[in-house]
Amino acid sequence: MEKGNLHRWVEQLDTGMKYKRGLGIESTAHTFGVSVVDERGTILSNVKEVYKPPPGKGIHPREASRHHAEKAPKLIGDALKAASLTIDDMDFIAYSAGPGLGPCLRVGATLARALSVYYHKPIIPVHHGVGHIELGCLLTGSSDPVVLLLSGGHTMILVSGIRSWVVFGETLDLTLGQLIDQFGRAIGYSSPAGPSIEKLARDGKKYVTLPYVVKGNDLSFSGMLTSIKKELSRPYADLAFSLQETAFAMVAEVSERALALTGKRELLVVGGVAANARLSEMLNHVADRQGAAIKPIPIAFAGDCGAQIAWPGVLYNKAGISARAEDAFVNQSWRIDRVSVPWRS
Ligand code: AMP
Ligand code: MG
Repeated sequence: MEKGNLHRWVEQLDTGMKYKRGLGIESTAHTFGVSVVDERGTILSNVKEVYKPPPGKGIHPREASRHHAEKAPKLIGDALKAASLTIDDMDFIAYSAGPGLGPCLRVGATLARALSVYYHKPIIPVHHGVGHIELGCLLTGSSDPVVLLLSGGHTMILVSGIRSWVVFGETLDLTLGQLIDQFGRAIGYSSPAGPSIEKLARDGKKYVTLPYVVKGNDLSFSGMLTSIKKELSRPYADLAFSLQETAFAMVAEVSERALALTGKRELLVVGGVAANARLSEMLNHVADRQGAAIKPIPIAFAGDCGAQIAWPGVLYNKAGISARAEDAFVNQSWRIDRVSVPWRS
């Protein structure tokens, strides 16, 4: 047990107080994750299994949902066991309600609904992107950051608004994760290809010119994908290197503008692409220039996981918000700026 967690546990015994805690289920795309988090933000458990498509293929929604349905019972049991708790100890069941792939979302929502009805627990729908951001704030101690949300489904630069997250800039077409995964697929890697492309890019020697498209504060990556697919006779390492340099520079430009215009002093980077070391290096330069601190999420929590759902579950639970099981929805294209975030002002 981590020192901080042990300290909290002892404190809990001393006061005889029971901290509220709940179960979070993540199932938007590749990952089926389950986590138990308490109201003080202690992550009591966080387990997951990731669906891997065959080499050169993208995610197949039906196959991924089958994977999730197969893994779910054991993972829910494992998460409770790792937290040394039972389902009766949970104060709520939170699930990822979107955005994501319909069949995958439905596995998580159906399980959450079943647990909620059978065990009489409040059910809480959580927006996947809000989950990435709020878990990032919890783990980095960041309070009012410019957020770079770079996951498979999002490429957005955000700042907090009144009971909401406000989009400062975003991609107009592909997400950065999709660009990387689709290029990966074109050269024979399975999705998610990010870690393989990052490794390959380290051997790149020659920069191949690719379209750099920033429109105002928005980004566009589809032209870059079309161009790079026409260059496949070149060494793949040079292409991976050029893709990273161009796409990350675009993201860095908009991040720098967001910091300069808002005057905020923290840059929080969340989502699977946040694990990329070259991106971190570029963003560090941006943060330095703007007198801001970069707050990268710990790599183990950069990608999708149950904790990103359980922690907002705690925040909604504290705000007294839950859904009726029959209203527990999924929304494949739920926009983050439509989500009520009552703890932000
Ligand atoms: P998420 O939806 O948050 O799990 O993020 C998944 C996306 O992150 C996928 O598109 C991955 O290819 C991408 N990704 C994961 N690790 C890396 C990495 N080291 N570099 C770049 N992209 C990455
Ligand atoms: Mg994600």
